[in-house]
Amino acid sequence: MKLFSFSAGDKKMGIGVETSSGVFNLTRALDIYQKAKGVRQPVSFDFLQMMVEMGYCSTAVIRDVLSESWVQSKRAELRLDSDFKYELPIARPSKIICLGRNYREHAKELKSDVPSEPLFFAKAPSSLIPHETDIVIPRWLNDRVDHEAELAVVIGREAKAIPKEEAFTCVAGYTILNDVTARTMQKADLDQQHPWFRSKSLDTFCPLGPFILPADECSDPHTLEIRLTVNGKIKQKDNTSSMIFSIPEVIAHVSKFMTLQPGDIIATGTPSGVSQIQDGDVIEVSITGIGILRNRVIKEV
Ligand code: MG
Repeated sequence: MKLFSFSAGDKKMGIGVETSSGVFNLTRALDIYQKAKGVRQPVSFDFLQMMVEMGYCSTAVIRDVLSESWVQSKRAELRLDSDFKYELPIARPSKIICLGRNYREHAKELKSDVPSEPLFFAKAPSSLIPHETDIVIPRWLNDRVDHEAELAVVIGREAKAIPKEEAFTCVAGYTILNDVTARTMQKADLDQQHPWFRSKSLDTFCPLGPFILPADECSDPHTLEIRLTVNGKIKQKDNTSSMIFSIPEVIAHVSKFMTLQPGDIIATGTPSGVSQIQDGDVIEVSITGIGILRNRVIKEV
């Protein structure tokens, strides 16, 4: 079972759910469910974020909502046909935290050391774009821009100074993130001992989604194959078992310094094989059980 945000032709936003028995409009199902149960929660456009906040990113709750709505309404009426667009699963996270050099082979290809503790930085939430939209390289940017395939953790509850033994209780689910990086700019900033925030945060440099795999659908997020292709050619291929710092270690470390909020994203670092992207390229990132995140690259003219 995987969750996603969508918009349909009439601009209506909603949450969809892909299950083994089809794809359903969970927003409608939840509406029916709440009416049947006599509860009423506000429904916002940022519904998936609201679901995460309300603890609805749980397969048991979603199964309950779907089965109740199928009692009250015809199952066919709740099906989502193909006439919709995937939107960002989390549109406004309070922060996007990214791990640097969390795969040994990637540290090697950057000619950098392996960090002794999780090394993290931020990407601006304004850089987010959904599946099937364009990564735009600005007109003035003529040097190297790279792709970076990453498994991203979606935080489901407020978390401050969480011990690693409890860290999985903060996770709502998992999604896919492409940590697009203006590499030449990043190197120049690092050489001058400046922060490299801007090279990670250009508009459109953070494709995300389209699916969230609820945490209880993923028995071990450290056993997933992660792969990235450019125009069908494999550039990155590894397994999340190769991470240096595990997800609980990362959550424990980050939450020591800052409170994690529901909907926050933690990108867990990229494997080796990062390479330059250019105008016309189609980038696909896939992770076992989560799906495919596809974006085209265009160079602004
Ligand atoms: Mg990265």
